[in-house]
Amino acid sequence: MWFNILKVDRFARIKGKKGLYDPSDDTVTIDLDNFTSRGKNYDDEERTTEFSNVATHEYSHREYAKELNEAFDKALKELFDAHTSYSKGQGSIEDTENKFQKLLNYVIINEDFAYASEKTYKNLRIHDMTEGSTKSVFNQIIDWMRKQLPKEDILFERMVNRLENGIERGVGWRNSIFYEHKYLKRK
Ligand SMILES: [Zn+2]
Repeated sequence: MWFNILKVDRFARIKGKKGLYDPSDDTVTIDLDNFTSRGKNYDDEERTTEFSNVATHEYSHREYAKELNEAFDKALKELFDAHTSYSKGQGSIEDTENKFQKLLNYVIINEDFAYASEKTYKNLRIHDMTEGSTKSVFNQIIDWMRKQLPKEDILFERMVNRLENGIERGVGWRNSIFYEHKYLKRK
């Protein structure tokens, strides 16, 4: 039923996530088993709201991807190039950090945009999860980067701490950017 209404591309198990938009094949996957409203304390209306929230969230990522994926990919590539140089003993950690910060700004705006499209309903309070989502993307990138390093690197770990602290602040100033984005879209 929902499959036809909201045109989710597939239902499948996704580790730790309710939904996922994959820009590589332009599909949205939903994992109903991870829904909060699966519990007995929730009614059908709440389940419907949660479903529509998750689908809306992922489709917001899809819309956003059309506008910004190129910029996002470019920022990601710049970060990987900077880190590759750094792990070979060339380049500086400051350069890597600047590139990472630029990428994080895109991630934060992207998540915030998607969460802002959701609505709340009774017990289903959708908290601002931007920070959590951003950190999950952040940790995946950091894991990849750490593996590239030939040995434990204190400068790298200090950078990780600074960026992690910065995410919280970044989520704080995100609103101005988000509203600007929304405003520009409307024009
Ligand atoms: Zn998201």
